[in-house]
Amino acid sequence: MVNQERPNELVAKQIVEERLGVELEHADTHGGVDYKSADGKIALEVTAVTQGGNKGARDALKKSVKKGVPGVDLATCWLVFAPEGQANMKTFIQRVQPALAELERVGESYFRRERAAIHTIEGGPLAEIYRTLLNAGVEMASSAPHEVKSDAPSHVHQVLVSTGSGGSVSGSDESLERLLDALSDKIDNPQKLAATGAVQRHLFVWVNDDTWHNIARPLSRTSPSWADEGWGAPSVAPTLDPAITHFWVMHERSRLGWFWDGKTWSALSPE
Ligand SMILES: [Zn+2]
Repeated sequence: MVNQERPNELVAKQIVEERLGVELEHADTHGGVDYKSADGKIALEVTAVTQGGNKGARDALKKSVKKGVPGVDLATCWLVFAPEGQANMKTFIQRVQPALAELERVGESYFRRERAAIHTIEGGPLAEIYRTLLNAGVEMASSAPHEVKSDAPSHVHQVLVSTGSGGSVSGSDESLERLLDALSDKIDNPQKLAATGAVQRHLFVWVNDDTWHNIARPLSRTSPSWADEGWGAPSVAPTLDPAITHFWVMHERSRLGWFWDGKTWSALSPE
């Protein structure tokens, strides 16, 4: 049986070819590395780190976001974290956005589940609002004030929800570390690359909206411009298996990515 190229392999190959000005040929006909250059000096393996999501919940949430909450405007965007596998994600935004608007009205910009639960038990003044957020499964909500860019004057502040698991990270360097950690399970990648004997051994990694949020966040770019500080290309060299000399990571939807050429990082964007 001959292995067929998968679409994400083909796209990765094209990106690498264009960036490096080389031509690669499909090599994984009977197992082994995905692509090689004709002279055998360059090898490319394509993989994906896409576990950690919950498609059913995310599809339901998409419907909820699309429906929106007419008449309930926010003064800022909000980042909301809710763990995977929530029930009733279909109406998540419809329940959460009015409560966040209420928080804004009383001058609150932050919600944390444990603290809110205690406050509610004690019958504090915010108990009613908190109860709505607690029932909706919100773990954390944080107001994210930002400038409304002149090129997007019609920006409507919105609730940006992450259902991904794995908590938060401080920036791209930490996301990279988590990604490399997730990759360390996939020992067949470096094995296939090592077996080629190529001088340049490239690993290309796709992430997507199913990937743990703490890995994909720098590249997912669902948010407005506050992503910029600390969320550019990593600032440290990746700790790679010696079989990997070049390292690529890209988000399927945003087509934003990073490329490590063995010496420096550069950012990739969909032009
Ligand atoms: Zn906004």
